[in-house]
Amino acid sequence: MQELTHYVNGVHIKGTSNRFGDVLNPATGEVQGKCPLSTTAEVETAIEIAAAAQPAWASVNPQRRSRVMMKFVDLLNRDMQKLAEVLSREHGKTLPDAAGDVQRGLEVVEFCMGAPHHLKGEFTDSAGPGIDMYSMKQPLGVCAGITPFNFPAMIPMWMFAPAIVCGNAFILKPSERNPSVPLMLVELLEEAGLPKGILQVVNGDKEAVDAILHNQTVQSVSFVGSTPIAEYIYATGCANGKRVQCFGGAKNHMIIMPDADLDQAADALVGSGYGAAGERCMAISVAVPVGDETADKLIKKLIPRVEALKIGPYTSGEDVDFGPVITAASKANIENLVQTGIDQGASLVVDGRGFKLQGYEDGFFVGAHLFDNVTTDMDIYKKEIFGPVLSTVRAKTYEEAIQMAIDHEYGNGTSIFTRDGDTARDFSNRINIGMVGVNVPIPVPLAYHTFGGWKKSMFGDLNQHGPDAFKFFTRTKTITSRWPSGIKEGGEFSIPVME
Ligand code: NAD
Repeated sequence: MQELTHYVNGVHIKGTSNRFGDVLNPATGEVQGKCPLSTTAEVETAIEIAAAAQPAWASVNPQRRSRVMMKFVDLLNRDMQKLAEVLSREHGKTLPDAAGDVQRGLEVVEFCMGAPHHLKGEFTDSAGPGIDMYSMKQPLGVCAGITPFNFPAMIPMWMFAPAIVCGNAFILKPSERNPSVPLMLVELLEEAGLPKGILQVVNGDKEAVDAILHNQTVQSVSFVGSTPIAEYIYATGCANGKRVQCFGGAKNHMIIMPDADLDQAADALVGSGYGAAGERCMAISVAVPVGDETADKLIKKLIPRVEALKIGPYTSGEDVDFGPVITAASKANIENLVQTGIDQGASLVVDGRGFKLQGYEDGFFVGAHLFDNVTTDMDIYKKEIFGPVLSTVRAKTYEEAIQMAIDHEYGNGTSIFTRDGDTARDFSNRINIGMVGVNVPIPVPLAYHTFGGWKKSMFGDLNQHGPDAFKFFTRTKTITSRWPSGIKEGGEFSIPVME
């Protein structure tokens, strides 16, 4: 069994805590690796190294920093299949989906190549007699990121690419469930020319996270994961004076209007509800057809599609729609919630219970489930299931449907399927959710826009990637300079005003 490492100051190092997390192959249930869990002292050492390395990196001009990103993109493309294979083995998602995970991160790196433009400051010539005024965007120093298991390539790249190209050093604490891809990414960045110490990986659990949160050198913390941990990290990081952005859980509704193309809507629901076994924060987990006629027709179209879904290990190649979930505990949690749905009166119209795959009996496979007649007081409606379970909540009217999404505590993504532009516009304007799709089921913004939810799905002010990333990872300094000939003639004692 492989003992994984941390990556500190340009080298892989073994953990010293003698504490490890199991890295599983979710398809077989086997433990394939041991992930070292950092001590506070190990995290502090990495932070000190980062702080020492960062000023020299910040003084490299932005264009040269961007060139490291350019080279990194080449290397990601070169190693795409290798990265996808390792990612699938530790996560369980299919190979094409794993390559998509790397690709979506790569696109953020591409966006970061434009750093010289994004870091340009502002300048006012002759703001007063002999006075120029300009603003600079300076790096924060040492930044840190804590990432979830479900996108082990994309989400670390969302954070470290903009942080680094802005001139910061970055400490990455990836999910202890699948740390191998993050370790490969830091190697590739150094191959691309990044100096050692600028990106380091410290593996770990709560102890490592707390070491980051309480360290005075760390200036910012970026987090993606479940809402309770997001709330904890936001509160603790802010209390310790850091800039913090935390992205949490989700319950994404899709409204299906009576005039929608129902085949298109059914295909969209199946892809977005069951892709990656539902382990996506932008998965659609609630279908809201408007009117009983729409609901009946939609359910009729969904049932054969859901029953036909192919479930298997990533090694089966393209012939699989989704793989196992991440752990036995996650599988048990999903199965318990399904049982709760039945107990609370929802109709299980596609029953994926008891799904077994020959040769993979110990894998964490969960069959595809479809519920109809779910109501908003049920646990399967209120809680994030994070599994291949789609709930249908019937709404009588558009107003009831939109109000349902407005009232839900999560606000990550949503979408509406309709042929009516007026309804789509009204929905986009009134909904209190961060990312909205119109006839698009997974409205994940591209790298040059920002990604972020509202309500209990996001804590903080600035989103991931896009222009917000350059704001989050820099501080603005504004300089007022005067070079008059008579500067030595004496001081001015009243505040300068514009007359
Ligand atoms: P998680 O919250 O269990 O773990 C995320 C990170 O937090 C990991 O690095 C983990 O080591 C760390 N962590 C766990 N417990 C901790 C504790 N008590 N104290 C400090 N740190 C702790 O999340 P997960 O299971 O890895 O990921 C799934 C969740 O992430 C889902 O809720 C999903 O919706 C969410 N997610 C959200 C987004 C988004 O952009 N909003 C994107 C992807 C995933």
